[in-house]
Amino acid sequence: MNDELESFIEAGKIAEKVLREIPHLVYDGQSLLDIAGTIEKIIIDNGAIPGFPVNLSVNQYAAHYTPSLDEKTVLNSEDVIKIDFGVSINGCVADQATTVDLSGKHELQVKAVRNALSSAVENIKPGAKVEEISKHIEDEIVKLGFKPISNLGGHMIKPYLLHAGIFVPNISNSNDPSSEYVFKEGDVFAIEPFATSGETGKVADTDKVEIFSLKQVRNVRLNASRKILAHILQKYSTLPFARRWLQQDFKSKVIVNAGLRELVRNDVLFKYPVLKDVDNQIITQAEVTSIVEKDGAKPIVPISLV
Ligand code: MN
Ligand code: MN
Repeated sequence: MNDELESFIEAGKIAEKVLREIPHLVYDGQSLLDIAGTIEKIIIDNGAIPGFPVNLSVNQYAAHYTPSLDEKTVLNSEDVIKIDFGVSINGCVADQATTVDLSGKHELQVKAVRNALSSAVENIKPGAKVEEISKHIEDEIVKLGFKPISNLGGHMIKPYLLHAGIFVPNISNSNDPSSEYVFKEGDVFAIEPFATSGETGKVADTDKVEIFSLKQVRNVRLNASRKILAHILQKYSTLPFARRWLQQDFKSKVIVNAGLRELVRNDVLFKYPVLKDVDNQIITQAEVTSIVEKDGAKPIVPISLV
């Protein structure tokens, strides 16, 4: 096995430890900032780095919600929370997500994404087409009475490239050119079904942005921006990072906010706005990273933990 796949497997072992801790971390009354910080600390204490900021998207939020340093939100007993985290070893990211339904009222909707994930992973093998996998995802979600989110999906992963070109839509007849892709031995893919109880099955950007990544290096005017850019290159490379991480690194909110503003304006950074269900309904998610082997896809964490 090559070094790259070994790094993914090592990242998967640490991701498994995090998944086993989640039931002890995510409960009624617990703060989002504390949960994110604790998961990121577990990853670092195990010798890896977070592949991206921990996403804690509650209820109608689907993805890209990571707490800011002044986040005050605490979980309440009715919340449905998606915990999406990455473990990076040498830029090889284990990308995992699970849903915790604190009231137990959304059990069926959680089951819908878990069934979709299992069915997709069971059917991935060299020679299978992305479109067939999308169909399995859609069928399992629809079967239980929910809608797949059509503008979110899984993705190929390469070192330092979390979204490496090929997209795995959560619906079968999407017009995405990736649908024609044929899986090959040695590919690494994250599969991530999302289901909504809404009618439309789509998410839209909100104005809240806490996660960024490097797009291209360009000249910028502010001294703060130049320092932040040098820091990003050295510490995060092309992996996504949180505003709160920079604010901790630089010990200043105002400098970081000014720098980020200029870097986004000059097209140096990608921004990842928080994504929300267009009908404001509950969303569930399950995600696992797998390596495509000769006989099929092998998840790098036990899929029963997701
Ligand atoms: Mn993820
Ligand atoms: Mn993903």
